[in-house]
Amino acid sequence: MTAHSFTARSASADDGVPRTNWSGNYHYSCSRVFQPVTVAEVQNAVRSVSAVRALGTRHCFNHIADSEVAQISTLKLKDISIAPDGQSVTVGAGIRYGDLAEVIDAEGYALHNLASLPHISVGGAVATATHGSGMLNGNLATEVLAIEFVAADGAVHTFSRAKDGDRFAGAVVNLGVIGVVTHITLALQPRFEVAQVVYQGLPFRELEQNFEEIMAAGYSVSIFTDWQNERAGELWIKRRVDGCGVPTPLPTFYSSTLAAKKLHPIPDHPAEACTDQLNSPGPWYERLPHFKMNFTPSSGQELQSEYFVPFERGYEAVRAIESLRDQIKPHLFITELRAVAGDDLWMSMAYQRPSLAIHFTWKPEISPVMNLLPQIEAKLAPFQARPHWGKLFTLGVEKIQALYPRISDFRALTREFDPNGKFRNQFIHEHVDRA
Ligand SMILES: Cc1cc2nc3c(=O)[nH]c(=O)nc-3n(C[C@H](O)[C@H](O)[C@H](O)COP(=O)(O)OP(=O)(O)OC[C@H]3O[C@@H](n4cnc5c(N)ncnc54)[C@H](O)[C@@H]3O)c2cc1C
Repeated sequence: MTAHSFTARSASADDGVPRTNWSGNYHYSCSRVFQPVTVAEVQNAVRSVSAVRALGTRHCFNHIADSEVAQISTLKLKDISIAPDGQSVTVGAGIRYGDLAEVIDAEGYALHNLASLPHISVGGAVATATHGSGMLNGNLATEVLAIEFVAADGAVHTFSRAKDGDRFAGAVVNLGVIGVVTHITLALQPRFEVAQVVYQGLPFRELEQNFEEIMAAGYSVSIFTDWQNERAGELWIKRRVDGCGVPTPLPTFYSSTLAAKKLHPIPDHPAEACTDQLNSPGPWYERLPHFKMNFTPSSGQELQSEYFVPFERGYEAVRAIESLRDQIKPHLFITELRAVAGDDLWMSMAYQRPSLAIHFTWKPEISPVMNLLPQIEAKLAPFQARPHWGKLFTLGVEKIQALYPRISDFRALTREFDPNGKFRNQFIHEHVDRA
């Protein structure tokens, strides 16, 4: 077994973990933060408090990670063990994808996909069904083969796809309610290279006729739009090159034009923070995210929302939102459209549904954004749109439960490991499980 360990200090509470989320738009309600280094320390921490939430890299925009009593930061749980057969890697749940990727790439391995940024913890990303893009790519939780977690009584449990089938599918996207996930086993594949190109000025009329062809134009495709002028500003296409050489991109693609310089998804933002474009091949982990590890991703000063609609109704949903373009424009940095393959994970936004994810990067204007979201949600209601668990939305528990066929089973499964609600916080009461 190849094992990599990072040095970590010993566990302590109140030890410098910021009391706001990454965006700074949410202040956590507690000052007590455990920072365990071992699973035994997680067990002791869980046993010692009446209520607690796991905390990863703090990249959620809502109060999902909050607790009025205590949080357990997972960031010192970051060991990496590649299985001897090279089929999987088991990691401490707090490791960031960017740190993991460098280690496994050096050993000849890759993960199937990454989110727009490599800065997030594996445990936090899996808990909320975080995703990248690609018609054939499930979200990041779909590459989980097993999880180890500490339940409310401090006992350690493991669930694997091979052993636990349906219950495993319930526990992976867990919203932090099943316990504190300490280790996660991810499927590996041989390392691969990717080259990305950007096209500019894609007319919506081309999407109407060719939506699937455009979204399937690469291994991972993103469309960025500000909803103005009936067109998308940028089309990002990430192609696997897999030893077959780097194909020369067409100068035009569905009436859009190949960009001659590197671009940021948000117009007028410097592109330095973005991963390399211009068809230059590079390792999977330096092309699949939009942003580089050592730079601030996206705008830095922003809010985010995202809604998942059935892929086959994606263009219709885009047009429904476009009718709000004048209300959206003053508060929007950019919208991104991505494809996510359907999966079997009960609380995944793509549960049993190949999806189009419609994302909004908002200016840091919380009141107007929160006032606008119900209008967007009303436009998307006919599409049974599921909101991203880690971003801003307003749908309450009644509407949410209509969107998730297995939510009752999820509530029952989580109660098995947390009968008294130690891991349930206000977010869970408002959106998932009122009891
Ligand atoms: C700039 C930016 C870009 C983003 N891009 C994308 C994107 O491309 N795609 C996408 O889908 N999302 C994206 N997101 C959202 C982000 O990926 C999710 O919010 C993700 O959950 C963040 O992980 P985290 O570790 O920071 O979680 P945190 O905010 O720390 O926690 C999130 C939730 O997971 C739970 N949790 C964390 N660790 C554990 C654990 N070990 N055990 C049990 N529960 C746990 C917490 O209790 C909480 O409920 C982006 C966010 C930002 C700020």
